[in-house]
Amino acid sequence: MLVAELKPYNETKSFIEKYQSILVVGCGGCTSLCNAGGLRETEALAAKLRRDTGVNIKSVTIERQCEDEFVIELSRMMEGVDAVLSLGCGAGVQLIAEQFINIPIYPALNTKFVGTSHDRRVFIERCRSCGECRLGSTAGICPITRCAKGLQNGPCGGSENGMCETGNGRECAWCLIIERMKAQGRLHELEAFCEPVQWPGQAPERFECGMGVK
Ligand code: SF4
Ligand code: SF4
Repeated sequence: MLVAELKPYNETKSFIEKYQSILVVGCGGCTSLCNAGGLRETEALAAKLRRDTGVNIKSVTIERQCEDEFVIELSRMMEGVDAVLSLGCGAGVQLIAEQFINIPIYPALNTKFVGTSHDRRVFIERCRSCGECRLGSTAGICPITRCAKGLQNGPCGGSENGMCETGNGRECAWCLIIERMKAQGRLHELEAFCEPVQWPGQAPERFECGMGVK
C-alpha cells in the first residue's frame, strides 16, 4: 500500500485561507488504511479548518481517488467550489486535477512510500516501484529499498556483524539476502551479475493491466 501522512496543519491551512468555498476530499483506499486520509481524518481536518478559518467547507470521502469512476462522483459536489483539498496520495491528487482542470487542487498529505503494515500505525518502506522487480533473485528482500546504497550487486564490504555501515541501527540488506539465500540452498545464484535497473525515462509510465501472460 501507499503510505502517506498529513502535512503540517499550518501548511494545509495556508493553502485554503484565500478561498470562500472549499471541498475537502478523503480517500477510502491506502491513505485510509494508514490513518491519514480516510473518513475519520477527512472529517476531523474539515472540522478544524471550519473552526479556524472563515471558509465555507464541504467534505466527502470517496472509495478511491486513483480511479476515474470514483473521482467522477465528485462532479455533483463541485457547484460553487473554489478549490479542492485532497487527502489522497499524489496519484489521487493528480487524477482529481485532471478531471476538474479549472479548479485549483491542493494536497493535504505527503505521500511517503510503498510499504507494509506492522502493528497498528507502524508502516515500513518495502518498495520504490522500480518497474523491474528482482525479488525473485534476492530471496524476497528488496535491495533498492533496504540497502542504504540501493546496491543491485552487494554487499558493499562495509557491513559489520550484519549491520549496515551507515549506522542508525539499520540491518545490512545484503547480509539478510545472503543469509536467506543460504538457508534456501541458493547462494550460488548470487554469483550472477545483476544488470542495473533501466530507470524510466522522462515521460510518466503507462501500463495496461490484465493483458495476460506474455
Ligand atoms: S526490486 Fe524493490 S523497488 Fe523494484 S519493484 Fe521489486 S520491491 Fe519494488
Ligand atoms: S552495508 Fe549492506 S545495506 Fe549498508 S550500504 Fe553496504 S551493502 Fe548496503
